[in-house]
Amino acid sequence: MDILVQKFGGTSVRDEDSRQYAIKHVKDAIQNNYKVVVVVSAMGRFPDPYATDSLLGLVGDQRTKLLDKEQDLLLSCGETISSVVFSNELKQEGISSIAITGAEAGIITTDHFTKAQIKRIQVQHIQALLQEKQVVVVAGFQGKTEQNEVTTIGRGGSDTSATALGVALQADYVDIFTDVNGIMTADPRMVTSARKIEKVSYTDICNLAYQGAKVIHPRAVEIAMQANIPIRVRSTRMNDDGTLITSINTSSGQDHIYDQFVTGIAYVTDLTQIKIEEEKEPQELHVKVFRAMAEAGISVDFINISPNGVIYTIFNKFEELALEVLERLQLKPTLIRNCAKISLVGAGMSGLPGVTSKIVHTLTNNNIPILQSADSHRTIWVLINNKNLKNAINELHLAFQLEKV
Ligand code: ASP
Ligand code: MG
Repeated sequence: MDILVQKFGGTSVRDEDSRQYAIKHVKDAIQNNYKVVVVVSAMGRFPDPYATDSLLGLVGDQRTKLLDKEQDLLLSCGETISSVVFSNELKQEGISSIAITGAEAGIITTDHFTKAQIKRIQVQHIQALLQEKQVVVVAGFQGKTEQNEVTTIGRGGSDTSATALGVALQADYVDIFTDVNGIMTADPRMVTSARKIEKVSYTDICNLAYQGAKVIHPRAVEIAMQANIPIRVRSTRMNDDGTLITSINTSSGQDHIYDQFVTGIAYVTDLTQIKIEEEKEPQELHVKVFRAMAEAGISVDFINISPNGVIYTIFNKFEELALEVLERLQLKPTLIRNCAKISLVGAGMSGLPGVTSKIVHTLTNNNIPILQSADSHRTIWVLINNKNLKNAINELHLAFQLEKV
């Protein structure tokens, strides 16, 4: 059986018009002799009635008194409704199909309700259904525990449902259909010369996704990578293969994407940089500060520990809480609010001299102060002011010639 997994996101199944485009892709796959597993997200975005955030709104959002387990029961309905509506429209087009829940699809998860992890997939049932039907429509974002309790697997989780099913069923491809045609070298709303990436490695996409690129969930990419199942990120409304995510042989050096140091640029905004200087008892300070942040449930990033003190970033929204905690420790932090973290990602930069130099040169030439920086063998990060973000990304995009294939 040649199997294709096609995942349609919330905007792709929002209304009948959008679903018609989605159904066209299902028809194409059937015509190419595929058995198709469709994975759907909940329909639309808030305030569409059956979108995940709308369902959450029914019980008071973050203020809800529900148990996580009960909340999962509610949120899973969004995808369940979507799967049935989609299956109905496939049938109306004469395509034999059936809608099933994540549980019926055999998706077994941990019992960390609201953010469960997929442990394994029992594929027998879905395989049997695929023998009979052309299409099985699976509700994304959900599974069940060993005790048959309904779980959801974290926001944006339908991507992960799709790649996990792709791996379990040994699909030829997992197609992630969305409202953009693939993954771009940078956010096209910010960078006019941003270009679609034709082919990219799992690791580069994972890094970009973890650093703020929103097109695909990084966990979904990690799962596909483990079994080497290719993913395509495609537009529902276009007939284009989008971006292919696959493993690329880095050692050959043949592939054109390795001619460039940098594959893409991602960013995260609304960060606050915290700096605490202390020369007398630096080690005590190190321990004290990070223990206090951890106890307050504040996630820290861009951490720089030195004998002079500590520097790190948090999201703006945690600033008040962080200040309270630090004041209790009688520390005097210096804050820079509204920062943005830019990440330049590319497997090709590993071991190559000159990448950092180009970044520093570009930003300095454009009078953009670098507040902090860090690097790994595949990513270089710089922290700047939010207000310089657009300029910085555009200039870096140009400097690394990302507009060119
Ligand atoms: N509907 C869920 C969410 O909004 C899952 C998904 O769309 O991937 O997070
Ligand atoms: Mg999504």
